[in-house]
Amino acid sequence: MNAMKPPKVVPFKTNLSLGTDLLGQLLEKGKKYGLNAIFPFSTEKIILAEWVHLKCRYGCSKYNTNWCCPPATPSPEKVRNIIGEYTTALLLVGTKKCSDFYRDNQRKRSVQVRCWRGTVGLERTLFLEGYYKAFSLVGECCALCKECAYPADCRFPQEKRPSVESFSIDVIGTLKNLGKMTRVETDTGATYNYYGIILVE
Ligand code: SF4
Repeated sequence: MNAMKPPKVVPFKTNLSLGTDLLGQLLEKGKKYGLNAIFPFSTEKIILAEWVHLKCRYGCSKYNTNWCCPPATPSPEKVRNIIGEYTTALLLVGTKKCSDFYRDNQRKRSVQVRCWRGTVGLERTLFLEGYYKAFSLVGECCALCKECAYPADCRFPQEKRPSVESFSIDVIGTLKNLGKMTRVETDTGATYNYYGIILVE
């Protein structure tokens, strides 16, 4: 009779113990959807600003059209409380083609969907490693459906997450706070960086 292999025992993590092995494992997975770096950082470095919400409310065509964007997402005040419940986050950095940035085409959407599912997948990996509070904020807005069902029920609620921007996070200010350089990409033939965040612990 074959001896049954005992199941892996994973304790729930309650402190900052993200080892290089786990980060390496996450990056390997992330590379499959265009990530090229993952940095753990203190959530104290996250800059929240009311003006970010203003940019969603005025000037963005996605406002009030998607479950992952305002006003469906938590208010800036609520976000402040949520972030206060975490000490550590992961900054996810990837690259995309700039030529698609202002387009609404299938090529852009398929990259968005890959990023979205990949980020939620990393959150799942963290959960299975014991980081039970892990929660992702994905770059841009949810494009899992060609047209969001909002305000009717979301078609993929298990993958529904707020976008980074909808959380009133000043991404550029936060990057500066982390000592990471970024710039406005004006050459439409170039690639640009995109950022996601996973709140971990
Ligand atoms: S999964 Fe579909 S319905 Fe749900 S938020 Fe994303 S686009 Fe909207």
